[in-house]
Amino acid sequence: KRKHEEEDDSSPTKKRHGHGEKVATHYNLLQETGLAARSQSRIFYMRNFNNWLKSVLIGEVLDTVRQSRRELSVLDLGCGKGGDLLKWRKGHISRLVCVDIAAVSVDQCQVRYEDMRKRGHPNERIFSAEFITADCTKELLTDKLKDPEMQFDVTSCQFVYHYSFETQQQADLMLKNACEQLRPGGYFIGTTPDAYELVKRVEAIDSNSFGNEVFSVTFQKKGHYPLFGCQYDFNLEGVVNVPEFLVYFPLFEEMAKKYNMRLVFKKTFSQFFEEHIKNNQHKMLMQRMQALESFPTENRNKSSSDSLDDYDHAKRK
Ligand code: SAM
Repeated sequence: KRKHEEEDDSSPTKKRHGHGEKVATHYNLLQETGLAARSQSRIFYMRNFNNWLKSVLIGEVLDTVRQSRRELSVLDLGCGKGGDLLKWRKGHISRLVCVDIAAVSVDQCQVRYEDMRKRGHPNERIFSAEFITADCTKELLTDKLKDPEMQFDVTSCQFVYHYSFETQQQADLMLKNACEQLRPGGYFIGTTPDAYELVKRVEAIDSNSFGNEVFSVTFQKKGHYPLFGCQYDFNLEGVVNVPEFLVYFPLFEEMAKKYNMRLVFKKTFSQFFEEHIKNNQHKMLMQRMQALESFPTENRNKSSSDSLDDYDHAKRK
C-alpha cells in the first residue's frame, strides 16, 4: 500500500486535470471511414482480429449469464462509436447503456443504434438503449443514469480501462462505475494492452520507443514504471495517438476485490486465440470476419458497403 501512495501522482500538489480532455478530443476528431477505405488499411486484419476476439468474448459471457436470467442488461463502458452494437444485437440482450467520454462518438453511436432499429426486421426485438457522455474516471455513472438503481448483468470495457490508470483515484472510480451496478453473479469483461509485454519490449532495446512502420509505443521514461501514471504514447496508423497508461494487472485484481469482484480469467490475445480457434463455430466466424491474413480473402476489396462494423459486413456477405 505504501508503494501505491508514494507513487500515486494524484496528490493535490500534482496536476488535477489529467489527460481526459486530450483523449476525448482525439476520439471526437476521429473520422469514421467507410468499409472500402478500411479494407485498404494496413491494420485491416488486426482490426478484424480484435473484432473477432470481442465477438467471441461477448458471445461467451452472454451465454453464461443467460443460464440464470433471460432479460440481460449491459453497460458498454467506453462504447466509442458503437463498434460493438451488433454484437449486443446478436447476443439478444434487452437493454444497453452506452457511455463514453467523447460526446461526438456517443452521438454517432446513438445514430448507428437508431439506424439499426429502423432497418431491423419489424418482428425483431432489438434492445432498448441509453446514451451517456461522461468521463468514467471522474464522474459517477449513477448520477447520470435515467434509473440510478439500474443493475447490469455484464459490463464490457473494450480497449478503454488503461486510460484510467493515470491516477489511483481515476482507476478506482472507473472500476466502481464498472462494477457497482452489477448484479450478484454479473461479469466485468474487458480488453486492455498487456503491460508485461510492453515493458519487456522496451527493456529489450536501447531506445525508449519501439514499433514498426504501422505502430509505435514510446515511453516517457525507461526503467521506471510507477503503478499509476506510467504513461506511454501509442500511435497506430493515425488511428490512435493518445497517452495511455500501463495497467499492472495484479494491482487491478486487488483493487477489484473492493467491489466484490473475483478474477475468472485473464488471457493474452494469443492464448485466447489458441483456445477458441479449436471451436469450429469460432473458426468459421474468423473466416467470415477476415480476421487472419492466411484465411481466404477474395472478398477483401470488393465491397462498397458502408456497414455498421466489420462483423456486420462479414456476416452479410
Ligand atoms: N470500446 C470501443 C471499441 O472497442 O470499439 C472503443 C474503444 S477506443 C480504443 C477507446 C474508447 O475509450 C474511446 O471511445 C474513448 O473516448 C473512450 N474513453 C477513454 N477514456 C475514457 C473515460 N475516462 N471515460 C469514458 N470513456 C473513455
